[in-house]
Amino acid sequence: MTRKQPEFLQEKEIFRDHIQKSGLRRTAQRDLILEIFLRTEEHLTSEDLYTLVHRQDPTVGQTTVYRTLKLLTEAGLAREVRFGDNKTYYEHHYNHEHHDHMICTECGKVFEFFSQEIENLQDQMADKFGFKPTHHSLRLWGLCSECQRKQLDTTVAASGAQPRVRVRSVVG
Ligand SMILES: [Zn+2]
Ligand SMILES: [Zn+2]
Ligand SMILES: [Zn+2]
Repeated sequence: MTRKQPEFLQEKEIFRDHIQKSGLRRTAQRDLILEIFLRTEEHLTSEDLYTLVHRQDPTVGQTTVYRTLKLLTEAGLAREVRFGDNKTYYEHHYNHEHHDHMICTECGKVFEFFSQEIENLQDQMADKFGFKPTHHSLRLWGLCSECQRKQLDTTVAASGAQPRVRVRSVVG
């Protein structure tokens, strides 16, 4: 059984409405950019999306991709996220539950997580200050389990020639 590709009908309608409201015209290029964005469940920079789009249609320019991403953000389909490397990433926003991120500073992998407990604590803290939060982004930076293991391996390898436990030679 092959799983049917989602058609993203709602998303496409939202985008069409937004394009119209902005006084722009619907183009095949914008449609393609939207399609590829929706199919990619990743955190993408404008350059990343451009690379993917370019593979399918080499006539699409980088500026068009960038502008379309801005339109998607305005329309509420995409959301900007920053992971501390001075780049702007985009992820799906529409129909996607709120989540926060952990970023591996070694390999750049991004993990999404959600904890109701943490969310509640944040609200409680805001309450305490009489603060009314509109949105938040919680990010943890560090090493993923794989990179921790690799680091451990290289430490072991570096001292590998000399095993830690050495049996003292009886021949002295
Ligand atoms: Zn959160
Ligand atoms: Zn990693
Ligand atoms: Zn995310």
